[in-house]
Amino acid sequence: MEKTLIILKPSAVQRSLIGEVIQRFEKKGLQVCGMKMMQLKNEILNEHYAHLAHLPFFQRIKDSMMASPVIVCCLQGKDAVRVVRSMAGVTNGRDAAPGTIRGDYSMSVQENIIHASDSVETAAIELKRFFKDEEIFEYAFNPMNFLYAGNEV
Ligand code: UDP
Ligand code: MG
Repeated sequence: MEKTLIILKPSAVQRSLIGEVIQRFEKKGLQVCGMKMMQLKNEILNEHYAHLAHLPFFQRIKDSMMASPVIVCCLQGKDAVRVVRSMAGVTNGRDAAPGTIRGDYSMSVQENIIHASDSVETAAIELKRFFKDEEIFEYAFNPMNFLYAGNEV
């Protein structure tokens, strides 16, 4: 099943939106396969945002990502990359459609709450960048056994 990476940026962590954002993905039906808090550093951001290195405000974008710890999360589901990207909304929070995460929680281009991988190929590279193999979990996703003990059904 397809996996993707999200990062809850300092704008999510500092505004106490971790739970709300993760809850949206859980309610949608995506499976959380890995999750941890990290303090990002310049080196990993140079890799992660290499496509923005030419921008005059590249350092400002990186500083924003280092301003506090972030939450990195692996989400799994059919077409997970596309589904998660569409739930995130377009980059500029002021343009993002209501109902998307950026549309509902952000007024900014930079402080836009969430990173989401933009293709299946990128997702694989980004998951390797932020997670060790043993931090991604393959597990059955079936609530019945957790609603009842075997002798109750
Ligand atoms: N960004 C910014 N100003 C820009 C372009 C990007 O502050 O003009 C920041 C913004 O936080 C964005 C991130 O850099 O989410 C990565 O940019 P990208 O173009 O990959 O957008 P995304 O894939 O996050 O929508
Ligand atoms: Mg991007």
